[in-house]
Amino acid sequence: MTAQIIDGKIIAADLRARVADEVARVKRDHGLTPGLAVVLVGNDPASEVYVRSKHKQTQAAGMASFEHVLPADVAQADLLALIAKLNTDPAVHGILVQLPLPKGLDTEKVIAAIDPAKDVDGLHPHNAGRLAGGLPALSPCTPLGCIILTKSVHPSLEGMNAIVIGRSNLVGRPLVQLLLNENATVTIAHSRSRDLPSLCRQADLVYAAVGRAEMVRGDWIKPGATVIDVGITRVPTAEGKTRLIGDVAFDEAMKVAGAVTPVPGGVGQMTVACLLVNTLRAACAIKGLPAPGV
Ligand code: NAP
Repeated sequence: MTAQIIDGKIIAADLRARVADEVARVKRDHGLTPGLAVVLVGNDPASEVYVRSKHKQTQAAGMASFEHVLPADVAQADLLALIAKLNTDPAVHGILVQLPLPKGLDTEKVIAAIDPAKDVDGLHPHNAGRLAGGLPALSPCTPLGCIILTKSVHPSLEGMNAIVIGRSNLVGRPLVQLLLNENATVTIAHSRSRDLPSLCRQADLVYAAVGRAEMVRGDWIKPGATVIDVGITRVPTAEGKTRLIGDVAFDEAMKVAGAVTPVPGGVGQMTVACLLVNTLRAACAIKGLPAPGV
């Protein structure tokens, strides 16, 4: 048996196209151009790549894109002043501060300074709390992408057994909440969990969000399960480049699972597409319009 490969590239391209259609509609009917401001502090090469890709895709969807690059040694007060300015800027509907921030800056304070209505990363305690309470909220983009990828295989997740490996605020915890909203039965595992392989073998849906290359082996996977690999580990190649490796031993998983996301070409593709969705949703909510059709 060979598993189906869940093609994040195709699914993300389809989502971006639907966002672009909705952006064109709100522009035409309501004179609204959704705007996303991305704040990059310092010059971490991986963060620069992500920010460039967010900028390109935001513009391609017909939205306004504002980039703010600050030096790594920026004073916390100056960063907070920029966020305060963006909070009141009517052209900006989404604010994203690229993480991780350089040492010396208080990430928690910076996130808390963002207007929750513009918190398109879904990390503000207001949105995290609403999500945990089962209320409508701006939710983190990577977990949203995981749900869309899963639903491309299983339109309903009701009653399915899911395991989420990893409990970060960015991925694991919000993913658990989104799965609960879909009426899945969820186990959340982490570095202190006992006998992870056997916990995993009970799951119809496996989400690996750890950051340990190929940790999830083929014999951890229940035959026919759907496996969503969030993990990214950069390893150097012989040619002096870097290669991305997921948390799942892909070749082994392909022999057992029903469907698997590749790395790259899986979850990563969805994260920016979902950021566009969140920006459009935030813009419509701020303008008092009904939620968009994506
Ligand atoms: P993180 O904050 O470092 O969290 C990692 C989680 O994995 C923690 O909860 C940790 O448990 C758990 N863990 C560590 N070792 C473990 C083990 N041996 N067994 C079980 N659980 C273990 O990372 P993150 O921000 O959630 O990101 C996770 C991975 O996803 C990273 O590779 C990251 O690069 C990737 N990622 C990808 C995207 C994308 O768009 N594709 C987006 C975000 C993140 P404890 O809580 O007990 O320490």
